[in-house]
Amino acid sequence: MRIDSKVANLLDTAQSGRAPGLDECAFLLEFPETSLEAAHLRAASDAITRRRFGNAGLIFGQIGIEIASCPGACRFCSFAAGHTAFAASVMSDDDILGNVAGFTASGELDALFLMTMHTFDIEWLTHIVEIVRERIPQGTELVVNIGDFDGAQAQALKTAGVTGAYHVVRLGEGSDTALDPEARKATIRAIKEAGLDWWYCCEPIGPEHSPRELAEQLFLGVRYGCVGHAAMRRVHLPSSPLAARGQISELRLAQVTAVVALATLACPDTRAIGVHEPNLLGLTAGANSLFAEAGANPRDTCENTTGHRGRDIRDCKTMLYEAGFTAIGTSSKRRIPLTDVFRNPA
Ligand code: SF4
Repeated sequence: MRIDSKVANLLDTAQSGRAPGLDECAFLLEFPETSLEAAHLRAASDAITRRRFGNAGLIFGQIGIEIASCPGACRFCSFAAGHTAFAASVMSDDDILGNVAGFTASGELDALFLMTMHTFDIEWLTHIVEIVRERIPQGTELVVNIGDFDGAQAQALKTAGVTGAYHVVRLGEGSDTALDPEARKATIRAIKEAGLDWWYCCEPIGPEHSPRELAEQLFLGVRYGCVGHAAMRRVHLPSSPLAARGQISELRLAQVTAVVALATLACPDTRAIGVHEPNLLGLTAGANSLFAEAGANPRDTCENTTGHRGRDIRDCKTMLYEAGFTAIGTSSKRRIPLTDVFRNPA
């Protein structure tokens, strides 16, 4: 069986380290996820990622530390003003630290993310960052996933102990959200100028997004230089305004993940490729990282995602093992063999 010769050439050159450009990424996304071309794409990306990162997977933890009716009003999010069913709540310091302890106890966490709504209280957030920083291992990355902020706030967060920030110009930003794409880009520049690591993602992917839209959105992460890139599908929330548009398959998500992994070959700082929510197809198509989650989760209908959509460290470790990874890497440069996940369940 032969595949499209242009796809074969692109995958061959990617194997030698050359990243596909924007047009080439859009081309790779035009093939149906069930095609032979998409299967070769996933396989090539998987092999390249395993070689690139020494077949080590990374485990991140995210804690959603508050819930409010969010003015971001993203039409796919369970916290958005206009359709959220959640009452406002703030996680106590003790509960935050309890979740931090749960994520860091085994020493296998690479990076810890703290998530707020679009608006946040900078004084409260810097306080939380300071108490969390004291409790996590020194080399562990501490990343904020928050709304737009300026250079002064970026510096304040850095001084408190933050090492990075997740910030995305989403698919449909400004039309499926109430947020300004230019303000999102300004925050990304503030992150970079403050010397913080910048984390990005192609999200939230729905069936309506064309190959070109996906390629243009994911390429921003390459152009600005992200340390972590990923692909995330929009999760079907029956009560959200975008519910009728449906949800892509994990197989299509794996195809986008594969393209993200190849595109970031042009980005020397990238050390993590993620797939959200974590699944084996993505982890065998170029992703090397996944999240454990606690507290608020914009893709969940449960106030605390622990035990619901959110996975714990053990679940993540098991999934990496099932996907064939042989080690866990950490930001403190440790490399922990991943060989006995079922033999040693403690
Ligand atoms: S995705 Fe973020 S910014 Fe958008 S409504 Fe949800 S919490 Fe707010």
